[in-house]
Amino acid sequence: MGYRIRMRFPEGKRKAFTLSYDDGMTSDFRLAEIMRKNGIKGTFNVNTGCFQAEDFEDPPEKHRRRMKKSEMLAFYEQYKDVAEMAVHTVTHPTLNTLPTGSVTWEVAQDRHNIEELFGVVCRGMAYPDGAYTDETVKALEVCGIAYARTTKSAGFDLPTDWLRMPATCHHTIPNLQELGEEFLNLKLDTYRDTAKWFYLWGHTYEFDDNNDWEKIERFLEQMGGKPEIWYATNIEIYDYIKAFESLQFSVDGKRVFNPTCRPVWFAVYRKYLKAPADEYCVNPGETITL
Ligand SMILES: [Zn+2]
Repeated sequence: MGYRIRMRFPEGKRKAFTLSYDDGMTSDFRLAEIMRKNGIKGTFNVNTGCFQAEDFEDPPEKHRRRMKKSEMLAFYEQYKDVAEMAVHTVTHPTLNTLPTGSVTWEVAQDRHNIEELFGVVCRGMAYPDGAYTDETVKALEVCGIAYARTTKSAGFDLPTDWLRMPATCHHTIPNLQELGEEFLNLKLDTYRDTAKWFYLWGHTYEFDDNNDWEKIERFLEQMGGKPEIWYATNIEIYDYIKAFESLQFSVDGKRVFNPTCRPVWFAVYRKYLKAPADEYCVNPGETITL
């Protein structure tokens, strides 16, 4: 007969949506506003050694640039309810070309700067240019990085190797809307179905360069506001999954203790693995009988 345990996201949801945008450009403000409008959260990967000079004056013609430090502080103040600030290294070097000592400095120093600037504990990262080696990954571990996003695409499956984390896609793929539709149509209601995510990434200056802001406006409207989707930053999803993995089950699978600080949802398929499954939520510090 047997049974199967499947993680659910908060409130028993089976899907999550997140995104991350890199480089700390002034156009991040516009994206964050669109995110908030649609109830979407995400992660901004910043290079704390690359701020625009405070006394820089914008020319009248259209141009793209990085935020000043004061603008970055204002950005986080304005959007901390939808934004996680994460590491993208201090100076945006291509990490697979650097000695390990320099990789470690670029990551740990950026992490420290972000923590000091925003008063947070920062554990997320995106690789500049998506470049890394096995040595780079080891350096990230030493620096206390929990996850690092690559530039690879891997559908809707949740990551298993968090320091080589793929996304679902970059926003410039031609079939973005169809892929979004496919995700929205997933049922995920059999014992075979694991929880899934949609992870979008890119740079906000690309919308200026390609003059296609309406593309992301339409897409986030399409994906936002769905009761069956959990909208979260990268680190919120990471921390939730780690909390689920920390649940302590009795050997017969009939009791479970939640040693973490957050409520955790999961489903148990019994009855010849047929749906509907029994759905559970175990609160912090609680032991429940299944
Ligand atoms: Zn970058």
